Amino acid sequence: MSFEYDLLVIGAGSGGVRAARMAATYGAKVAVVEEDRVGGTCVIRGCVPKKLFVYASRFADMFEIAPSFGWTVESSFDWPTLVANKDKEIARLEAAYVAAVEKPGGTLLRDRAVLTGPNSARLVSSGREITARYILVATGGHPHIPDIPGKELGITSNEAFELKQLPHSILIEGGGYIAVEFATVFAGLGVPTTLVYRGDKVLRGFDDDLRTGLEAGLQERGVKLIYETTIRALEAKGSDVVARFSDEVDAPFGAVMFATGRRANTRGIGLEAAGVELNPDGSIKVDRYSKTNVDSIYAVGDVTGRSQLTPIAVREGWYVAETLFNDNPQWVDHSQIGTAVFAEPEVATIGLTEEEAATHGDIDVYLARFRPMINTLSTKSTRTMMKLITAADGGKVLGLHILGKDAAEMVQVAAVAIGMGATKADFDRAIAMHPTAGEELVTFKGPTHRYRNGAKV
Ligand code: NDP
Repeated sequence: MSFEYDLLVIGAGSGGVRAARMAATYGAKVAVVEEDRVGGTCVIRGCVPKKLFVYASRFADMFEIAPSFGWTVESSFDWPTLVANKDKEIARLEAAYVAAVEKPGGTLLRDRAVLTGPNSARLVSSGREITARYILVATGGHPHIPDIPGKELGITSNEAFELKQLPHSILIEGGGYIAVEFATVFAGLGVPTTLVYRGDKVLRGFDDDLRTGLEAGLQERGVKLIYETTIRALEAKGSDVVARFSDEVDAPFGAVMFATGRRANTRGIGLEAAGVELNPDGSIKVDRYSKTNVDSIYAVGDVTGRSQLTPIAVREGWYVAETLFNDNPQWVDHSQIGTAVFAEPEVATIGLTEEEAATHGDIDVYLARFRPMINTLSTKSTRTMMKLITAADGGKVLGLHILGKDAAEMVQVAAVAIGMGATKADFDRAIAMHPTAGEELVTFKGPTHRYRNGAKV
């Protein structure tokens, strides 16, 4: 049977574009269908603009300590300038993503694709029917909003990137990545910020010392934290939004933002017609090679619900191209993924948390808390925290958790060594670079505490 294309990619985000580019590089005839802007969540309304906003918010911290270095700074902030400059940069990146598809010979089709079978899809606007030997679904996800009265009065991160002006105050619901990152941004830009979370401490699932340290950092930044509470309804009052909380308290805010998780984009794209199986949470079920239950259909990135992280989508997309068009079957190991939360202080982590590691055998924990050098001339009290967790037997590094300036940069580099199975002795062998924060990682002396048979000693 002959097909029009070797690979049809639905969705031009991080995963889809990487798969398309690599497949085209290997000689495959590739089409990518995208109904929105090219670049996906990360580029258009995720990691990239978020990090730009985080940079913007961190100027406040620098201005705060500047006098201790002899500087006198008069500052004012203009939100529309930031948004306009961010938009320019996103447009530049979008063009780069278009080129990534087209340069190696791929075709970009601006339309919405709906699967009509295992090897075919219909383009909604043009009505064109496309056939392909393989189809890759890379449609990403969307913000999930709790089903409460007045939910339409709230915004999500999507709209937060496009606000015409900063709200006079903001309430953010959630305790995950997006909630703490945006709380950092808004508070840093001077907006009175409240975070309401149904749990008892932000960043569930992260190492407990990271969570406690971030909680303190957010509070130091002026973020008001309300725990074990949810928003049960929203109501408009003039230009404000009144939040009715689960504890029966009401309060008005300039804006209310939901950061309550994201769901896979699997509706209305013909997955049923093609016979593709879904997971209970609505994401697409795939095997380790990102293949669905239909042999010709693959899926990568957020739509598969495995890990909602851009670099994972990129790697999954690349490996689908390797598997299908380079005779080099590859799958992504999801067991040890480093991740960073660009809050203030920054959080970065890889491997097991202390709580998890303690259940995996005897471990040694090396913990350092110190005032970063940049703050030593000022009264700023924010501290950096570093935690290295090693196996008591052999010293293999099982987890690394850093809270503080440049945490993500440090964990990214250490991830190479940890991925190679580095031990405490390997870390110790590295000569310190002085004065840096990272040198703490290679100069730990004895463990701060140990776990033997699951008990802290
Ligand atoms: P997360 O899953 O990180 O956090 C969702 C939060 O919302 C949790 O605190 C959760 O509570 C809470 N929540 C979920 N449902 C409800 C509800 N019905 N009512 C009240 N609270 C609720 O999702 P995010 O939206 O923050 O981000 C989505 C994903 O995007 C992240 O998981 C991450 O993978 C990715 N991302 C990565 C970033 C990075 O790499 N720096 C940055 C931003 C996003 P509970 O903890 O109790 O479940």
